[in-house]
Amino acid sequence: MKNRLLNALLSDLTANDIWRIDFLYSVTHDCSFERSLFMPSLTPQQLAEIPTLLPILIDWGERMEKRALSEGIAVNDILRNAATILRIKDIGAVRILAVPSICEPENQRIVALAAALGLSFSNLGGITFGHGILVHCSCAQDNALLTHELVHVRQYEQAGTIARYLPVYVQQLIQYGYQNMPLEREAVIETANMWPPPPHRPVEQR
Ligand SMILES: [Zn+2]
Repeated sequence: MKNRLLNALLSDLTANDIWRIDFLYSVTHDCSFERSLFMPSLTPQQLAEIPTLLPILIDWGERMEKRALSEGIAVNDILRNAATILRIKDIGAVRILAVPSICEPENQRIVALAAALGLSFSNLGGITFGHGILVHCSCAQDNALLTHELVHVRQYEQAGTIARYLPVYVQQLIQYGYQNMPLEREAVIETANMWPPPPHRPVEQR
C-alpha cells in the first residue's frame, strides 16, 4: 500500500528527478545517515490523504514565496559568499523575510501529517519556498540557519519550480522522516561544513 502511494506521488517525475533523489541519498548515506533514529509510520488512511493534499501544499508554498519576495530583504555579504560556495544560481533573486512566527499551512491535515513525520512548523526557525526564505525574527541574524535555508534554495533551483520540488520533499518525508530525509541531511551537512554548530543545538530549530 505504502509503495503504491509513493509510486503514485512520483509518477509525474522525470527519470532525471529520480536520479537526483538517488544521488542525494548516496551523498547523505555516507555521512552519518541514521535511519534507525526515527522511522515514520503513517496509517494507510493517512497515506491515502497525501496525494489530495499536495496541490494545497504547493499553492500555500507559492503564496509564501510571493510574500517573502515582495516583503523580504536581499541577503547580506556573508550569505552572498556562502551562496557562491553553495553554487546558487540566482542569489540576487533571494529575499529573506523575518516574521514573528513561522506560519503554518491553513490546512490542519497538512500540519498534523507533517507533525506525525517529525516536522513541526511551529518549531522551525526558518522555511524556504523557491527564492523566498521566511525566518523567525529571533533567527534573522543567524547565518548558519540562513545558510541551511540557502541549501534549500539551491535544491529548488535544481528542481525548477515549487510544484516540482515539494512532491519530492514530501515523498522523502514519508519515507525517511524529517530528521533523516536526504534533502534535509544535505542541508545539515553542508551547513555544518561551513558553520560548525555549537553542541546540542539542532540547525533550523529555535
Ligand atoms: Zn531544512
